Amino acid sequence: MAPIKQEEFVQSIADALQYISYYHPADYIRALAAAYEREESAPARDAIAQILTNSRMCAEGRRPICQDTGIVVAFVRVGMNVRWADATVSLQQMVDEGVRRAYLHPDNKLRASILAEPAGARRNTRDNTPAVVHVDLVPGEKVEVDIAAKGGGSENKSKFVMLNPSDSIVDWVLKTVPTMGAGWCPPGMLGIGIGGSAEKAMVLAKEALMEPIDMHELKARGPRNRLEELRVEIHDKVNALGIGAQGLGGLTTVLDVKIRDYPTHAASLPVAIIPNCAATRHVHFVLDGSGPAVLEPPRLEDYPDVRWAPAADARRVDLARVTREEVARWKPGETLLLNGRLLTGRDAAHKRIQELLASGRGLPNQVDFRNRFIYYVGPVDPVRDEVVGPAGPTTATRMDKFTDMMLEKTGLLGMIGKAERGPVAIEAIRRHRAVYLMAVGGAAYLVSKAIRSSRVVAFEELGMEAIYEFEVRDMPVTVAVDVNGTSVHQTGPAHWQAKIGKIPVAVA
Ligand code: SF4
Repeated sequence: MAPIKQEEFVQSIADALQYISYYHPADYIRALAAAYEREESAPARDAIAQILTNSRMCAEGRRPICQDTGIVVAFVRVGMNVRWADATVSLQQMVDEGVRRAYLHPDNKLRASILAEPAGARRNTRDNTPAVVHVDLVPGEKVEVDIAAKGGGSENKSKFVMLNPSDSIVDWVLKTVPTMGAGWCPPGMLGIGIGGSAEKAMVLAKEALMEPIDMHELKARGPRNRLEELRVEIHDKVNALGIGAQGLGGLTTVLDVKIRDYPTHAASLPVAIIPNCAATRHVHFVLDGSGPAVLEPPRLEDYPDVRWAPAADARRVDLARVTREEVARWKPGETLLLNGRLLTGRDAAHKRIQELLASGRGLPNQVDFRNRFIYYVGPVDPVRDEVVGPAGPTTATRMDKFTDMMLEKTGLLGMIGKAERGPVAIEAIRRHRAVYLMAVGGAAYLVSKAIRSSRVVAFEELGMEAIYEFEVRDMPVTVAVDVNGTSVHQTGPAHWQAKIGKIPVAVA
């Protein structure tokens, strides 16, 4: 076979990462479209409609499905007879060069989310390198690559346990999934790794997520082995928990469950779960020396004809005039369309605000939160005539520990993020009679179309974590925690679990 050139490998990695930034895998689209047809919960159906509409818009506009364009994970299987024509750097360096090329692409710049010195300075590497690369040497003459861009929100919900050999894996999964909340942006998949050692189980779970969604076909033909039986059982029982799209309560939480296993020690039963989110992004290619990978774009006919539009009865809110009295009238689960100016801020900005207030120095002049809303977001940089790149919400629970301080000291009316709030934040919201609104995670390009202007007002050096002021028109959000502390992420799943049929859930 022909030797493989370094440039072919690097360009294939770059092309694959650009490709998955805007094209969902066809199997994910098919499975999500079927879930949309089946869904009976109105808020969950609306969230799925936003994700599907966003997906088509991203494919047409070639812009990222989500503002979190992920950490790159590559599984590279190198044939032992492969010859490299001109390689001068390591495989890790080749992958990293492909990542750099993809993430700095001028037509579709992706968000640089990787921080060096994670336990210290947390300095952004600016080009999303390095990737996490797993290499296997296998028989053959080809190089086979599975590459993914994994969102932080879903990666953060990964779980691992060392069970006793006699323990039930299903019980542990059913006990654990509700503790993951909705920050992993369901509907998605669960990758489960069973066996090996601790680190092997985690890698198996991640590798399992590279497989296509085929639960429908598996159920149609029936399971042929123990792992397939487990897949079906976990799929059905997790969906019966009623968590639903975005944790709003509904019929579909997972589209598929993928399991890989490996022999393990007689004393051990290691089990890992890694969820994959609404921004499911991975692709597979093979290099044989005949040139860079050729990736076929999906056909637009493969996308369902779902065009999300705000409900006619949605309440329009004028952010310039909104009052505490008006906020107090908003009902849990109600859809709002926000109009006017709001400020943004996420992890690093909150930390900076807390330090400035604690030191008595106060906030920069332009940062005035009185009677305003903060949107937890780290947008993608704009290209061409965009005012901002994809700008969906980030996981709100990470800001829970700052919520009381923000409501107490800054005069904030409320917050916008994704997924549930924890007990500490809900209590602060109730006490300050504030409100928490949620936008749909995984619909970032759709959300960004509601943003009509954007400017950085403080902490510019934080990059995507700076404080921006956005002007929005009809930005869709749902009242997720009202002024009384009622959370739709508690009431929605409870309602749907009861409705689906009360499966017994193991207690810790
Ligand atoms: S869909 Fe949700 S979890 Fe996935 S990358 Fe986007 S924000 Fe993160």
